[in-house]
Amino acid sequence: SVNIFWFRRDLRLEDNRGLCEALGAGRPVLPIFIFDSEILDGLPADDPRVTFLHDRLQELRSRMQENQGSSLAIYHGKPLEIFKELASDWDVGQVFTNRDYEPYARDRDEQVGQWLSEQGIEFHTFKDQVIFEKDEVVKDDGDPYVVYTPYMKKWKQVFRDTPLATFDSAGQLGNLIAHSRLPNPDLADFGFERSAIPVPDYDMGGKLIDAYEDNRNYPAREGTSRLGPHLRFGTISIRQALGKALESSNETFWNELIWREFFMQILWHFPRTVHEAFRKEYDRIAWRNDESEFEKWREGRTGFALVDAGMRQLNASGYMHNRVRMLTASFLCKHLLIDWRWGEAYFAEKLLDYEMASNVGNWQWAAGSGVDAAPYFRIFNPMTQVDKFDKDKSYIREWIPEYGTEDYPEKMVDHKAARERCLKTYKAALD
Ligand code: FAD
Repeated sequence: SVNIFWFRRDLRLEDNRGLCEALGAGRPVLPIFIFDSEILDGLPADDPRVTFLHDRLQELRSRMQENQGSSLAIYHGKPLEIFKELASDWDVGQVFTNRDYEPYARDRDEQVGQWLSEQGIEFHTFKDQVIFEKDEVVKDDGDPYVVYTPYMKKWKQVFRDTPLATFDSAGQLGNLIAHSRLPNPDLADFGFERSAIPVPDYDMGGKLIDAYEDNRNYPAREGTSRLGPHLRFGTISIRQALGKALESSNETFWNELIWREFFMQILWHFPRTVHEAFRKEYDRIAWRNDESEFEKWREGRTGFALVDAGMRQLNASGYMHNRVRMLTASFLCKHLLIDWRWGEAYFAEKLLDYEMASNVGNWQWAAGSGVDAAPYFRIFNPMTQVDKFDKDKSYIREWIPEYGTEDYPEKMVDHKAARERCLKTYKAALD
């Protein structure tokens, strides 16, 4: 009989908690990955994230083959159906996996776990993608934090009492089943094709982390780590990433990783915020939702150079600098009065580092409707943002080759008038 380890967003052999538990549980382990058709059906055929997943899985598969004469079984379909197949092909004892906190994943795991337990198969899940989950960092009365700074302080306090764990999964690969002929579909087998957009490597070098605070706000500089997609898909463990961050005495970068966990626990406690404003009165805002204005924003043709440069960077590379994410999001919600959910969905489609908790959390922050959001009457001025963060316009010129020529569009709204309109509309909803 075998135990199964189900890879999801933890695509690495090193420091993988669930894999480590599976390998130590006494039976040979069959490692699997499922391209979930429920998720893939909504994506374009050349989605760069699917290419990245595919390539990364091939890498894992080769490493398993080289080292242990083992392999990785890759499937495409609905997870429950795949488990039904697996249970009829193999004598399965237990299934191991790492926890995922998004609402869809929670439902899926509940269904799969339920079915497995009806077959007498144990389903074990583990915390792996965060340092602290669920109720591990809450107020003294057990309520979740909805403001970042006290959450961050409590997080650090709890962290001081818990040494950073590591899990020797890589050292136990000898416990994988020795079986090299396992299913391995190509992208085309499930209707996908290779994307031309690559996921860049991350940089967690000491130089970058030490200078992070000075550089991180300037979109023209390569001053941030580009860890996003690697944390999303688990090509680095959060424990290893945090361990690196802690080698620097500067806490700014560490705090960013805590923002990630802050939004993850918000999504866990308030899954409704995926669709609803955290502050319910914000769902009374009379969004204008003009389709053609939304198109101009998407394509980077608003006439506001920093907004347009950001949208073009996103469209071309699957990445946008954080400073510019804040501005483009604010511009959509406030200058154009387009529902944050439209912008959230567009970012979800394009970002290589798309993370539901962080994307929803940050979009609600930009709209003013979220946890720890700035007061709504603080509206970014897209021109002064240029003076502050791209003074020599090198980021703008990099992404807008026609900037300064007559091919570049006129501003689509007047800043002052749009600002007034926003204040009036928000006020009407919130008063
Ligand atoms: P670095 O600056 O090097 O930060 C390191 C890591 O810290 C990031 O990879 C990320 O995991 C975490 N982090 C940093 N800032 C934040 C933040 N504000 N919220 C949560 N985590 C943070 N981040 C995502 O990972 N996925 C998203 O879908 C996402 N959508 C966003 C949407 C909007 C409107 C805004 C304003 C921000 C969004 N962010 C999102 C947060 C942030 O912009 C990105 O994490 C960051 O730009 C990624 O680049 P980096 O990996 O080089 O980050």
